[in-house]
Amino acid sequence: MSNAFCTTAFHEASHVIVAQRLGLAVHSVSIRALNSERGRPLGGATVIRWDLLLGKREDRQLCRDAMTAAYAGIAWESLASGRTFDEVFPDCPSDSDAVADIRRRFNERSAFPTDEDSRQTSTNARDGACAMVVEHKNDIERFAWFLCFKRDLSETQIDSWFGRAGITRAALAFFGRTGCQFERFLGTKEN
Ligand SMILES: [Zn+2]
Repeated sequence: MSNAFCTTAFHEASHVIVAQRLGLAVHSVSIRALNSERGRPLGGATVIRWDLLLGKREDRQLCRDAMTAAYAGIAWESLASGRTFDEVFPDCPSDSDAVADIRRRFNERSAFPTDEDSRQTSTNARDGACAMVVEHKNDIERFAWFLCFKRDLSETQIDSWFGRAGITRAALAFFGRTGCQFERFLGTKEN
């Protein structure tokens, strides 16, 4: 199995595991051959439906959770390669696009009083993603191997994998809502 194939599988698995841990629905995940772009022979995609929680979870927390899931792939590649987050960042244009899109959606909802609030949320999300990929390294590895084997997974198949892993969506949504994940990972408490 090629290095690029593994990197893609682990990158996408990181999005999936972090999103699930934050109680965000994962609609699908796939890894596939692509025309080589930026020197990457393989590409992947994870569709995270964080927008389903708009109005149900507090805006700034949901924005941070959505950004954390979007940053998780870069966080993993940084951890695995020993390069810094900022060094890996330019290699993952679809992830930076996803973060920009999330920021735009929440700006439209006037979630942030100032640009500084928006920047701080993004920084917290990046730090949260880096902490979570370490914390959930074993689940990421297990899911990545499953993804290597299956290539494409639907929401039902993803839920079924988590069901077998003994982690229920309800429990994850509860942790996501209470925000205790972040208090634990970042050692901060929000008011
Ligand atoms: Zn990604």
